[in-house]
Amino acid sequence: MIIILKQSASKKDAETILDEIEKTGLKPLFLPGIERIVIGAIGDERLLNEKQFESFPQVQEVKPVLSPYKLVSREFNNARTIVKIGDVAFGGDEFITIAGPCAVENSLQMNKAAAAVKSAGAKVLRGGAFKPRTSPYSFQGLGVEGLKILSQVSREFHMPAVTEVVEVADIDAVEQYADAFQVGARNMQNFRLLTELGQRRKPVILKRGFAAKVEDLLLAAEYIVSEGNPNVILCERGIRTFETCTRNTLDLNAVPYLKSRSHLPVIVDPSHGTGVRDLVAPMAFASAACGADGLIIEVHPDPKSALSDGMQSLTPEQFATMMKDLKRFVLAANRVMA
Ligand code: PEP
Ligand code: MN
Repeated sequence: MIIILKQSASKKDAETILDEIEKTGLKPLFLPGIERIVIGAIGDERLLNEKQFESFPQVQEVKPVLSPYKLVSREFNNARTIVKIGDVAFGGDEFITIAGPCAVENSLQMNKAAAAVKSAGAKVLRGGAFKPRTSPYSFQGLGVEGLKILSQVSREFHMPAVTEVVEVADIDAVEQYADAFQVGARNMQNFRLLTELGQRRKPVILKRGFAAKVEDLLLAAEYIVSEGNPNVILCERGIRTFETCTRNTLDLNAVPYLKSRSHLPVIVDPSHGTGVRDLVAPMAFASAACGADGLIIEVHPDPKSALSDGMQSLTPEQFATMMKDLKRFVLAANRVMA
């Protein structure tokens, strides 16, 4: 529920209402705006009585939030949220590209990848250290050693780094070495992990599970935000359908839908969304055209020798060409690309 106070309302008036909400067992939220104070009551709204708040003299309006997700909804906050990874802002006017290999393999590979993606215009570096692979016999990532390599290369190239965290026990290590947490498709509904990340300050890139509805993704984001971390970037990365030509079906419907229902930034991962190198650039262009705030792309200095996801990784040359061609689509969508 949202309680909008009159312009004349003071902080003390707000405190009286916040106390009242607390007494009912809901979570009170104080949202002072430039023009007026807004108060949120989060939780099971059946415990609240709208009329009870309408009768306060300093209350202008009481509005229920009808969607099942609350804090991440536009009903709750219509101003777009800017999430910063390092000093790179997502959700503003600039269209941002995150790029790098699927997995950190060694220092030389990361150095080559970072040099290539940076010179082509990527602003954030990616690289997995903990790899949740479908087969237990596939490369599982270098673990903390991989985080150290990622962090060193990230500092050397002045690019903030993002990497996946797969379990609660690894959060501290990832937080120490990276600038943002990535929650992978397989963990989108790992609610313990989401709750813990909600208690941290670093941003979270939350990828859509491959069998998750868009609403499930928003509710997963709500887990993080309701714990106190507002820095969530949503990521469409393809879902399972009956189609088998591609690894996944990239659901670009989700992008304008998410943008219209939520104030959080939305990025697209056409690498996992297609699983096919030649389809990555066209779907990246389509992502920009339909209003995404950015991309996350797998790039490997030598895809044929990649230890994971080589089939969908772009070569440095292909990535540079993609970035050049992407500009027109970004401009057409009224965004800018530095
Ligand atoms: C990845 O980004 O390398 C990855 C494993 O992605 P997803 O969780 O979307 O499969
Ligand atoms: Mn991958």
